[in-house]
Amino acid sequence: MSENAIEFTKVQKRYGAVTAVDDISFGIRRGELVTFLGPSGCGKTTTLRLVAGLELPTAGQVLIAGKDVSKQPASERNVGMVFQSYALFPHMSVMDNVAYGPVIRGGNKAEAVARGREILSLLGLSGLEERLPSELSGGQQQRVAVARAIVQQPDVLLFDEPLSNVDAKLRRRVREEIRDLQRRFNLTAVYVTHDQEEALAVSDRIVVMSNGRIAQIGTPSDLYERPNSRFVADFIGDANLIEGTVEAGQGGPIFRADDAAMQLAGDATPGKATLSIRPERIALRAGEGQLQGTIETATYLGGRTEYRVGTPFGPLLVSAPATAPTHKVADRVAVEIAPDAPTIVEHERKQ
Ligand code: ATP
Repeated sequence: MSENAIEFTKVQKRYGAVTAVDDISFGIRRGELVTFLGPSGCGKTTTLRLVAGLELPTAGQVLIAGKDVSKQPASERNVGMVFQSYALFPHMSVMDNVAYGPVIRGGNKAEAVARGREILSLLGLSGLEERLPSELSGGQQQRVAVARAIVQQPDVLLFDEPLSNVDAKLRRRVREEIRDLQRRFNLTAVYVTHDQEEALAVSDRIVVMSNGRIAQIGTPSDLYERPNSRFVADFIGDANLIEGTVEAGQGGPIFRADDAAMQLAGDATPGKATLSIRPERIALRAGEGQLQGTIETATYLGGRTEYRVGTPFGPLLVSAPATAPTHKVADRVAVEIAPDAPTIVEHERKQ
């Protein structure tokens, strides 16, 4: 049997002429938090709804806990959901909200309340059992929503943009809490967001989607350090994308674009290529260097300064730590790019 808590095999979801999810396959391990990330309309909510059983696939197979649930509606799946609007019953106390699920499924009320009390206490909500949702802060309401989902001991917990109604200042704390809870209870969780920073912060792995398909699956650092396409490089963080040609050089591969050239690390094969270079992997030094640049804009951002630098490769975005020497607009600078800083995101090998 598969080790995965969730397994999608060639899953497709069509709404009439629209293909919302197009032939996607992936596995999510037990105890893992996996985020679906992508621009509006890429299919991430549909994927979450396919896990929940709120949508059934047009083609392909969905397994949860090793069982084929492709044709089972939500009511027959053991899945908990936490939505962006917490969807707590406003006229019911915290405890009634939490115990509601097990009771409605025919569970014993006293047992549901006892388990609810234990979970509320683990979530730091003891003493609030009799309050109404309107008498709680946003963060507390979110925790009650999580408690209500966990009390049912779901195989999988789903989070649909759970922070979009949380105050911007609270967001970091609530996302840390969600992550802490997920780890403590060893929950398998699927999380949907369009916020790349949130995805990097909470996930074991991220699935980047584009046009109903999976663009890349990996850990946050895989995706940031080794994006496999222009799309992923550009969507996660900032990227300088440069088109040119890889050539064999005496000391290893060389990348050439127009009149400029730079050394590459590794064994890139010759051919047309697009490089991605993260702004913080480029250093600037006053004076002359192999690659010469001119400061076009300088933006002070507190912890760092962002420069746009005109170079023979075109304008490059550079992010310098606050501790680095500063430069003014029109200053000439040496632009230093370590050979291992660029990642090749598109490659058309020479035949
Ligand atoms: P967002 O971030 O805007 O919520 P998303 O990535 O979650 O976007 P989905 O909601 O999964 O995207 O939608 C994927 C595609 O499927 C979109 O083109 C959308 O218009 C379409 N779609 C989704 N639900 C339906 C539906 N019930 N009927 C028809 N088309 C739909």
